[in-house]
Amino acid sequence: MKGVLILSKGIMVFVEQSQGNIRKTSLELLSQASVIAGQAGEAVTAVILGQNIENLADEAIQYGADKVIVADAPQLEKYTIGPYTRVLKSIIRQEEPQAVLLGNTATGRELAPRLAQRLGVGQASDCTGLEYAADTFLRFKRPVYAGKALVYVSSKVRPVVATIRPNTFQAVARVPQQQAVVVKYPVESEAAELSVIIREVVLAGSKRPELTEANIIIAGGRGLKGPEHFAMLGEFADTVGGAVAASRVAVDAGWVEHEYQVGQTGKTVSPTLYIACGISGAIQHLAGMGSARCVVAINNDPEANIFKIADYGIVGDVFEVVPMLTQQLRKTAY
Ligand code: FAD
Repeated sequence: MKGVLILSKGIMVFVEQSQGNIRKTSLELLSQASVIAGQAGEAVTAVILGQNIENLADEAIQYGADKVIVADAPQLEKYTIGPYTRVLKSIIRQEEPQAVLLGNTATGRELAPRLAQRLGVGQASDCTGLEYAADTFLRFKRPVYAGKALVYVSSKVRPVVATIRPNTFQAVARVPQQQAVVVKYPVESEAAELSVIIREVVLAGSKRPELTEANIIIAGGRGLKGPEHFAMLGEFADTVGGAVAASRVAVDAGWVEHEYQVGQTGKTVSPTLYIACGISGAIQHLAGMGSARCVVAINNDPEANIFKIADYGIVGDVFEVVPMLTQQLRKTAY
C-alpha cells in the first residue's frame, strides 16, 4: 500500500525506552516536534512500546506529547525488530500521522527503513535539522558525502519517516498539557509474535554516558601513543561528566574497543563539546564529529588539520595539557 496523500495529521515520535527509562534522544524529538506542531497547529503523538511502561507517559507529555499511545505486552518487553515493526506499522496506519520521527540510534536505524518500506514511503536518515515548511509541512537537513555537503529533504507523500541524530535538539520540559491523553493500544498476539527470543541483556559496565548521546566527548588519537594513556582521558571525561572516544588509528592499534570509534566507519556523534586530543583531523574522523557544537583541539602540530575546524585550539603536548585541564576543572566543581 502506498503512502497516503495529505489527509494525514500530526507528528508521531517513536519513544525509545530502555530498562524503563526514556532515552534522552526521544525527549529531544518530542521537544522539537512540539515546537513544530505549535507552528503548524498540529499535535504530537508519542508511541511507547514495552512492558509495564505506562508510567512513562507522563514524561512524554511533559516533553511535548499531546497524546501518548502505549503498547504494553510481554513480547515487547525487550526490543526485537519483528514485533516492534509490526506493532508500530499498525499504529501508524491507525493514526495516519504526517511524519514519524525516530532517533538515529541503533534501534531507530534498524526500525525506520523497515517501516518506510512497509508503508511504501521514503525515509530521511541521520538528519541534523528539522523545521516547519508551509508547503511540505517538514523540511529535514542531512549531511552527505561524509559531512562535506548538506542537503535539504522534504516530501508530500505521507507519512514521512525520518531518523534524527541525537543531540540535534535540546530536550525541554514544559508545563504538561492538561488535555493530553494516554491511550492503550491493544497489541494483537499475531503482531507481537516473536521469532527471536532475547534471553539476557548484558549492559556495558561504564557509568559514562553513551557516546552517541553524550553532551561532552573527550577523544584520543595516535598522539596518545599507547592504550595506557586512555586512562588520562577517562579521568578528564569523569571530571566533566563526559564520554571517551577514539580515532580509528587508536582502535586499529587495539588501544580501545571499536565501540569508541568516531568517524566514517565508527559512530556519528553530535555533542555540545568535543575535545580532540592528539587527533590530526582526517576527513574520515571529521565525518563522525563535524556536527559537534564546539570543538576544542589539543595538538602539538600547529599545522594539524583539526585546527581548521576547531573553535578553540591548544597547541601543546596532550600529556601536559590534559592533566592540567583536568586539575583546573576539578577545582571549579564542574
Ligand atoms: P594521526 O593522523 O596520526 O594524527 C595524530 C595526531 O596527534 C597528529 O596530528 C600529531 O601532531 C598529534 N600528536 C602526536 N603527539 C602528540 C602529543 N604528544 N601531543 C599532542 N598532539 C600530538 N579515522 C577515524 O578516526 N574514524 C573513522 O571512522 C575512520 N574511517 C576510515 C575509513 C576509511 C575508508 C579510511 C581510508 C580511513 C578511515 N579513518 C578513520 C582513518 C583516517 O583516515 C585517519 O588515518 C585517522 O583518523 C587518523 O587518526 P589520528 O588522528 O589518531 O592519527
